[in-house]
Amino acid sequence: RASALVCIIILCSLCFQKTKALLDHPNTLFLNLTELTDQQKEFQEVARKFAREEIVPAALSYDKSGEYPFPLIKRAWDLGLINGHIPEDCGGMGLGIFDSCLITEELAFGCTGVQTAIEANSLGQMPVIIAGNDAQKKKYLGRMAEEPLMCAYCVTEPGAGSDVAGIKTRAVKKGDEYVVNGQKMWITNGGKANWYFLLALTDPDPKCPTSRAFTGFIVEADTPGVQPGRKELNMGQRCSDTRGITFEDVRIPKENVLIGEGAGFKIAMGAFDKTRPPVAAGATGLAQRALEEATKYALERKTFGKFIAEHQAVSFLLAEMAMKVELARMAYQRAAWEVDQGRRNTYYASIAKAFAGDIANQCAADAVQIFGGNGFNSEYPVEKLMRDAKIYQIYEGTAQIQRLIISREHLGKFKQ
Ligand SMILES: Cc1cc2nc3c(=O)[nH]c(=O)nc-3n(C[C@H](O)[C@H](O)[C@H](O)COP(=O)(O)OP(=O)(O)OC[C@H]3O[C@@H](n4cnc5c(N)ncnc54)[C@H](O)[C@@H]3O)c2cc1C
Repeated sequence: RASALVCIIILCSLCFQKTKALLDHPNTLFLNLTELTDQQKEFQEVARKFAREEIVPAALSYDKSGEYPFPLIKRAWDLGLINGHIPEDCGGMGLGIFDSCLITEELAFGCTGVQTAIEANSLGQMPVIIAGNDAQKKKYLGRMAEEPLMCAYCVTEPGAGSDVAGIKTRAVKKGDEYVVNGQKMWITNGGKANWYFLLALTDPDPKCPTSRAFTGFIVEADTPGVQPGRKELNMGQRCSDTRGITFEDVRIPKENVLIGEGAGFKIAMGAFDKTRPPVAAGATGLAQRALEEATKYALERKTFGKFIAEHQAVSFLLAEMAMKVELARMAYQRAAWEVDQGRRNTYYASIAKAFAGDIANQCAADAVQIFGGNGFNSEYPVEKLMRDAKIYQIYEGTAQIQRLIISREHLGKFKQ
C-alpha cells in the first residue's frame, strides 16, 4: 500500500510540474506537453522583443503610407528571423517548419503586413527547397542567405486563383530556353522580388492530365519582358507589396526548370503543406494581438461604475477569444510538427489554415466590439487588425478551398 501511495504521489507531482510549465509559458505548449528547446525559446523571445519594440510602434505609419517596410525586413534579416528554413549547405539555418512558425506568430503580432511580406519569401523559396537541384538551391537560396533579398510565388492569374489548373500563362520550349507569355495577379512581393517561382502551362493538350501539364520555373526578376504592374491598394496589410506581373516573351534557360517539364503542378501545390502552417501561425499572432489589445482596454474602460471586463458579457467574449487563440496555436503547431516528422500533413495544414484564418477574423471583430466607438477609429489599433485579418481567409487557398481539402482527406480515410 505504501509503495502504491508513493507512485501516486510521484505521478501527481509530475502532472503538477507539467501543468505549471504550461501555465508559466502559455505560448510554448505543445501536443505531448514537452517543452520547447532552448533554441526555440530563444528564437521566440528575439522575435517577440523585435515585434513588440520595433514593429508595433512603426506599424500604423506603414499602414497609412503603404510604404514597403524594408527597414524592418532588413532588421529581421539581421536578427536571423527571416529565411530560417534555408538549408545549412546553402548558408541558411535549416530550421524546421515548427521553429519558423514560432517566429512567424510573433512577427504577426507586430504587424501582419510586415509578416506577409516576410512570409512571401518562404512561399517563393519553398518550391526550390522541395524540388530544386543542388545548383539551383545554392544559387537562388544562397544569395538570400547572403543579403536581405525578397522573392515571390507567381501562380495566381486574373482568371484563375482557386482553380490553379485554369492558369493560362504559357511556356514554349525553343532550343535551350523556354519563352513565357502571360499575366499573373496578386503576387506578394511582386515589385520587390529578386526572383520568382513561376508556374506556367507547357502542355496545352486538353487531354494532358493536370499533374503533367504545368512546369515550375525560377525566373530572375530583371529578365527582359518581366513587367510588374502597379502596387495594388488592398483592404489591409497595406505595406505588403501586391502586384500583377506581365510576362512578355520572357526567355528562361532550361537550367531554371524545377525537376523537369510537367512537374510544376505538384511542386506548386506541395509547397503549401509547408507554407500553410506558417500562414496559420500569422493568423494566430493577429488573434493574440486582438485578444491582448481588447483585454487591456477592458481593464481600463469603465461603464456603469465598473471596468467593462467586469461585465460578464465582455469577460465571456474575452474568454471565447482566448479559447480560439489557444486552439489555433495548437492547430498550427500540430500541422508544422507533422511535416517536420516527414509525414504528409495536408489535412492538418488545411485545418490549421482554415481555423486560424477564421478565428483571426472573429477575434479582430470582437476586439473592435470591445473597444466600442473607439474600435471603429483608425487611431486605435484594432480597426487595422480587422482589415488585416480578412486576407487569411483568402490567400494560400480560400476558407472554402481548405474545407474542400479537409473533407476530401477526411472522406478518403473512410473510403480506403
Ligand atoms: C493580398 C493578396 C496576396 C496574394 N498573394 C499571392 C501570391 O503571392 N502568389 C499567388 O500566386 N497568389 C497570391 N494571391 C492570390 C490568392 O491566392 C487568390 O486570390 C486565392 O487563391 C483565391 O483565388 P481568386 O481570387 O481567383 O478567387 P476565386 O478562385 O475566383 O474564388 C472566388 C470565391 O469562390 C470560392 N470558390 C472557388 N472555387 C470554389 C469551390 N470549388 N468550392 C467552393 N467555393 C469555391 C472561393 O472560396 C471564393 O470565395 C494573393 C491574393 C491577395 C488578395
